[in-house]
Amino acid sequence: MSVVLGSVDCQKIVVLGNPNVGKTSIIQRFVHNRFEERYAATLGFNIYTRYIQIANKNVGLTIWDIGGQETFKKFAFRYLIESDAAIFVTDVTRTETIDRLKVWNDSLEQVINRKIPKIVLFNKIDLKHDMNAISEKMASLDIRSEFNGIVFASAKTGANVSDIFSMLAKMLLEWNGKFGSPVKQWVDFKGAFVDERLPIIFFSSKDCEWCPPLLDKIQSFSAEVPLEVKVIDVDANSKQAKEFGVQSLPTTIVGAKMVVGYSDGTFLKAIITDEYSRLFEQKK
Ligand code: GDP
Ligand code: MG
Repeated sequence: MSVVLGSVDCQKIVVLGNPNVGKTSIIQRFVHNRFEERYAATLGFNIYTRYIQIANKNVGLTIWDIGGQETFKKFAFRYLIESDAAIFVTDVTRTETIDRLKVWNDSLEQVINRKIPKIVLFNKIDLKHDMNAISEKMASLDIRSEFNGIVFASAKTGANVSDIFSMLAKMLLEWNGKFGSPVKQWVDFKGAFVDERLPIIFFSSKDCEWCPPLLDKIQSFSAEVPLEVKVIDVDANSKQAKEFGVQSLPTTIVGAKMVVGYSDGTFLKAIITDEYSRLFEQKK
């Protein structure tokens, strides 16, 4: 996605990786130069913008921070569209996060139909880690040639964080000459969702008086729009509700959008119809 903002060409960078590896921390360090010890799972996604100068050229980076929850994954497709570059974050203290590189890369490749610069970031180097184990893991990874750069960094100390982004920006400046300009194509979502049904997650609890009537309304919409409704009982799944950032009930996640509170159903129906056509009918 090359969006012209003023005279600056903005590039979309997606940051991917398991929960807790430090994706948000890396971005916060780069954009605001700060670090927080407290862990708060990222809900859905956030977008940050920063401009940097490379070879006398101003480059705008829009950095997309995507929630890494397993349950969120099917919604993630939407955010990967038209990425110009990707940062895959792993945690040096948990080498199993390296195994997941393939899964994240596969998700990206389902959506991006061209070669884009990819960097693997080994985060948390301020903590004790086993370099041999990491090297062995990387050597055995059959997709290691897919990545264009590797950086060891720490969001906590700030070590090498700005290098990641300047490395990417440099690659991006040269990239189009080497591989051609990005070709914008509609993404085929087939296979990403069950039978092309719009995923809906409905958070409810027994104390929520407005939840049952709203859920009834949503179920009734499925006569017109194919829906896949999943109800999560917040009393029994408080962790999951917290991961999604649910604060009050009812909360409904419709495709990639979150709707908080009760409505007469008309509003929610409009969102459902809109999300459905955005995800499944965009080629028509
Ligand atoms: P995300 O789920 O991938 O976005 O991870 P977060 O950015 O929320 O970070 C997860 C946890 O790891 C938080 O408690 C951070 O404070 C911590 N963390 C992130 N980066 C570093 C780092 O470089 N060093 C250390 N020691 N802790 C880190
Ligand atoms: Mg996060």
